Amino acid sequence: MIRTKGRACTGKRRHDTRDEAEEHRDRLLAKGAVRIAAYACRHRGCGGWHVGHLPKPRT
Ligand SMILES: [Zn+2]
Repeated sequence: MIRTKGRACTGKRRHDTRDEAEEHRDRLLAKGAVRIAAYACRHRGCGGWHVGHLPKPRT
């Protein structure tokens, strides 16, 4: 296993489809998480979906 530094998606749950990611998000929301969303990974070689915190809205 290769560990990469930085903001790579290592350590995060990876989902093949948006549906799976949203299901995961729903489970986290049910546990009390807030402001999280499913998003498509931009990391090369991943091509999956992850669940993470939303960026702060700029107002
Ligand atoms: Zn990823």
